Order: sequence, then C-alpha cells, then structure tokens
Amino acid sequence: MDKIVILGGGESGIGAAVLAKKKGFEVFLSDMGMLQEYAKGVLAEHAIAFEEGRHTPEHILDAVEVIKSPGIPDTAPMVEKIIHRGIPVISEIEFAGRFDNAKKICVTGSNGKTTTTSLIYFLLKNAGLNVGLAGNIGQSYAYQVATCQHDIYVLELSSFQLDNMYDFKADLAILLNITPDHLDRYDHDMQKYVNAKFRITQNMSPDDYFIFCSDDEVTVEQLKKIVIQAQKLPFSQTHPIEQGACIEDGEISSRYGPDEFRIFINELALQGKHNIYNSMAAANTGQVMNIRHELIRQCLMTFKGVEHRLEQVGTIRGVLYINDSKATNVNSAWYALESMKTPVVWIAGGTDKGNDYSILHALVKEKVKALICLGADNIKLYQNFADKVPVITEVRSAEQAVQTAYQWAQPGDTVLLSPACASFDLFKNYEDRGMQFKEAFRKL
Ligand code: ADP
Repeated sequence: MDKIVILGGGESGIGAAVLAKKKGFEVFLSDMGMLQEYAKGVLAEHAIAFEEGRHTPEHILDAVEVIKSPGIPDTAPMVEKIIHRGIPVISEIEFAGRFDNAKKICVTGSNGKTTTTSLIYFLLKNAGLNVGLAGNIGQSYAYQVATCQHDIYVLELSSFQLDNMYDFKADLAILLNITPDHLDRYDHDMQKYVNAKFRITQNMSPDDYFIFCSDDEVTVEQLKKIVIQAQKLPFSQTHPIEQGACIEDGEISSRYGPDEFRIFINELALQGKHNIYNSMAAANTGQVMNIRHELIRQCLMTFKGVEHRLEQVGTIRGVLYINDSKATNVNSAWYALESMKTPVVWIAGGTDKGNDYSILHALVKEKVKALICLGADNIKLYQNFADKVPVITEVRSAEQAVQTAYQWAQPGDTVLLSPACASFDLFKNYEDRGMQFKEAFRKL
C-alpha cells in the first residue's frame, strides 16, 4: 500500500489525512507542535497513525508523497530532507483536487480573498446551487471531498497553498491584487511571490475564465510576460472595460458576452473602494455562472460582510467602532482609512512584517486625529506618524486601546482598529485581537 505522509495537523492536514485514508492509502500524520483534542478525535475515529511534538524521519521518508501544511516553510529541516530525497511535496488542495470533479472557482490575492470568496459563495448558495466553501476558510476542502458531494466549490487560496499545486486546475480563477506580503517566505523576492499567485492560472484552457484587476500594476506587468489560455475578464475603477467590469456614471457595469449587469455603487452592501473591486469580481462571476441579475443585485445589496473585516461593532456616544483586525498589512489598512468618511481615532500596530508606511502618510494626515499604538514595539509607528497626527500614545491591550479611544473620540468620529500588522506580539491571532476589541467595546 502506498504511504502518504501529512506534515501539520491543522484543519487542512486533518482533512487530507481523512481523505487519503478513505482513498485507501497508508497514512501517517506528523506535527512538530501538539495537536488539538478535536484533531486527535478525528484521527482516532479514522484509525490514522500520528505523532506530535516531533518529526521522526524513519516514519516520514518512506512516503510516496508528502502533503504539507501551508504554514510550514520549505526551509523547515524536515521538509528539506524530504525534498532532498526527491519525495514530491504537495498541498492539501492539490491532493483533494485529484478526487473532485466539481467546478472550481478559486480566489487569490494579497487582500480581499476571504471577503470575495464568501460573497461569491453567498451568491451561489442563494441561487440554489449545491456549492461548498473551502480553502483557507471553514472546513477543509479535503475533508469536504472525503465526506460530501458538491457540484461547485468556491476556494480561497493563499500563495502558500498555491506554492505546492501542480496539476490542479481552476475553472474560474480570480486574482484580486498583488501587493508585498509574506515576502519573508519568498527570499524577499517579489517576483517569486508574484509567480506563486499566478499559479492560480496554471493548466487553464480556453474554456476557463480568469478574472483580475487591471488597475493592479503588478498583475498587469506579469500578464505581459506570460501566456494565459483562459478567457480574460478584467475589472477596473479607472478605465473602460469591454468584457469584464468597470465604473460608468456611478454604477458598476459588468459585461460578459452580450450580457450586461449594472448596480449603483451606493447600493452595495460592502462599502469602500476595495469592496467595489470585490463586488465587481463577484458580479462578473455570477454572470459567468449564469445567475439571474435580480439575484446578483439582491446579494450584493444584502451581504453582511465577514467578521474582523471593517466590521461595524456598534456606536456609543455618537462614535462608531469598527473592527478591521484582519488588516494585517499596510495595503489593507490603506483601504480601511481610505473608506473613512469622518475623523478617525486609529488603533494600529503589532508584529511588523517589514512594513513601509509611506503610502499611508497622506491619508493619516488627512483623516486621523489620534493614533493609539497597540503593539509590543511601536517605534516605527512613532517614527512615521508622530509628526502627522495631533496625538499619539501606546498601549499594551485591546481594553486599554478602546478605553483611550473612548476618551479621545468626539461624537461623529470613528474608532478604527486596522492594525497594518500581524497580531502575534500581544494576541494569539487576528481573531483574538478582534474579539478582545469587541469585548472591550461591550464593557464601555
Ligand atoms: P484576505 O483573506 O486576503 O486576507 P480579507 O477579505 O480577509 O482578505 O480582508 C483583509 C483586509 O483587507 C481587510 O482589512 C479588508 O478591509 C481589506 N480588503 C478587502 N478587500 C480588499 C481589496 N480588494 N484590496 C485591498 N484591501 C482589501
């Protein structure tokens, strides 16, 4: 029996293990850290062998193939050994794709993946289609392929998942944007990161569709260098588009063949310039999927958004509190600040990923009346913004941040948590940061 080894026992690893077992492989899962109780429960239920707290080479190097969690870099010593032996390393998505005939709508980009994936899922689900939501979001793709039958999947794919995908093919691929992120995993080489994102188009044929942002310079430059077989449907907020989506007289005009769908920008449930892009991608996808205009309109007008993404938490004393904890890079914080219509008390900071804050300077000067730095080390924020905001301070907890904001904000202002940084210095993850922010709000 061929042996499949799975490195990493998170959501994707557990799903891959269950699917591999179901397909008749000998399966062994190995995790350097400790597994969660629920994960051990699933492995026990399917009689899958595993180890935790270590990688034992003799239990790993006899595999025919290794499925690696996207969180583990290629430079991890065990991965280096596996590659050195010539054992193929693939991602959970690549593996599960082999056993799935469903139509695959795949979404990638530096920012906006979860929002757009969720919006498209909402649209297809409301259209009554038998659709699954997976990838970086919810239950793993592999687990769903192992346990249920869907006609369509909407998959959110990160560059790390795409890195280890080779034969997988998307039927409809969406590339939202490419801005520097995670460059530490790409030898600080932007081109390598761009190449990873473009893997979403690999193996596509002329029957497939590639939806992308033609305002994104990095994307457009890369398209000059490579050949894409799929039919291209660009979207733009700056220039006219014949096939794809653009803005005309305050409306999105989205064209696919002879079909044109229109909706006013101010009718969209998700506000902000970035969400116009996300809504364009979703509308155009809806047309390709042959969904009625009325339904596309209704979904774009009623979609509630995703937690921790410009999430409106509530209003106290005339001050609106917004949780955008998922803004873990400078670009997403730019879009958050850009969409603000009132003076802003801005809560930012955390683990710096080599941030270049210069693109925020002008917006901060224009909109931010106070900056509260919520990080273990706030030197860079002070260096960049101390001379651009009337007041600046630093705090060590979400509660302190919210209480300080409460004192500083006046009726009509917005308190915005949009950190532009990862969360690992003071929080477990961005969800934890967002939850603590919301909890502190409730205690006011
Ligand atoms: P991802 O899954 O790619 O991290 P999310 O949908 O979770 O993206 O959004 C992450 C952050 O990026 C949020 O703060 C959100 O406001 C911002 N954002 C959403 N869509 C876009 C976009 N198209 N361009 C830039 N920023 C965006």
